[in-house]
Amino acid sequence: MNSRRDFLQKLGVSALALHLAPLSGWADSKNKPNETYDGPVLRVAIMGLGSYGTRVAEAMQSCVKAKLVGVISGTPSKVKDWQSKYAIPAKNCYNYENFDDIKNNPDIDAVYVITPNGLHHDQVIRVAKAGKHAICEKPMALNAKQGQEMVDACKKANVKLLVGYRMHFEPKTLEVIRMRKAGDFGKVLFFQGLCGFSIGDPTQWRLNKQLAGGGSLMDIGIYAINGSRYMTGEDPVWVTAQETKTDPVKFKEGVDETIQFQFGFPSGATASCLSTYKMNNLDRFFLNGDKGFAELQPSTGYGPIKGRTNIGELTQPVTVHQTVQMEEIAGIIFENKQPIVPIDGEEAVKDLKLIDAIYLAAKTGQKVDVKL
Ligand code: NAD
Repeated sequence: MNSRRDFLQKLGVSALALHLAPLSGWADSKNKPNETYDGPVLRVAIMGLGSYGTRVAEAMQSCVKAKLVGVISGTPSKVKDWQSKYAIPAKNCYNYENFDDIKNNPDIDAVYVITPNGLHHDQVIRVAKAGKHAICEKPMALNAKQGQEMVDACKKANVKLLVGYRMHFEPKTLEVIRMRKAGDFGKVLFFQGLCGFSIGDPTQWRLNKQLAGGGSLMDIGIYAINGSRYMTGEDPVWVTAQETKTDPVKFKEGVDETIQFQFGFPSGATASCLSTYKMNNLDRFFLNGDKGFAELQPSTGYGPIKGRTNIGELTQPVTVHQTVQMEEIAGIIFENKQPIVPIDGEEAVKDLKLIDAIYLAAKTGQKVDVKL
């Protein structure tokens, strides 16, 4: 490797984007622990200090290539708490009205949008206009049209748009993908994805059509949608779907309680998936080929992910997903690293096209052709 200075010059990274990263706390990831890292550090502001934002902030404390340096929140008391907990300077704190001013802040490289789904579109576009890289939680938007507008805005502003697809860096998931690519399962014939949990508080934003964009499919079913693509290695060409609702008071018009959907792939393989807000213990992926199979259960929860294939248990290390994700995102932004499974805005638009198609298929009862 060149000297640190050569490395930085090659990347065109401003000296302001740097500081020496801590050496500790990375034992859970595939990075080697106790190794000095003196490359660029991605300085991130988190927008939305809710439950997942808190999880990401905690996980980032173990990162060496990414650092939490700012917040955007509508709640001053939370900002104060985060400032003292994570040593965030007042000049890096914003609210939802003034965060466009982040464009004048040279100490923030990226904003991670972790707010309710219905806010992502406008917030990411504002982040792009402020000239900062945007990291956005899933689902990236409420539909493919919104998603494409976000991709276009980030392209226009020459910033990256990346989505919090943490499973794309999960070791057992990546091992199944490696084995599938190596032909270990033979010709892939079938994928099953089961994703769900029993949702509580009926007043939460996840059950509000405007903020959530739908119901279980937007929130948890998206894992089976995205998983069906990375597990089979193909993009669907047709979709069928059926919706069932047992509680129309809690799950209002446009908020799905349970949806089952099926995909057809160009090879002739098919997928059958279930997304629900009505059942617990549903977190399972199953991939079947003519020479073998892979099973992940739990498949997309925070972990530990467990799994086996026809040749035995998967033994890859357990990681903190959000720590690894943020380290990898730093590599994507600063070194143009290409992840094995993409996490960019275009990848998210494909999932949003499938969400649009699933809702259409469920509403019309018709098979819907898709082109991703
Ligand atoms: P949450 O309700 O815990 O937090 C949402 C935050 O947004 C809160 O701090 C809230 O104050 C803020 N907010 C700003 N404007 C708001 C408004 N108009 N209405 C309601 N809240 C508003 O939700 P969460 O579980 O942290 O989810 C946030 C996002 O993260 C969602 O898009 C969700 O899908 C995603 N998420 C991803 C994962 C994952 O594993 N990748 C896990 C959980 C959530």
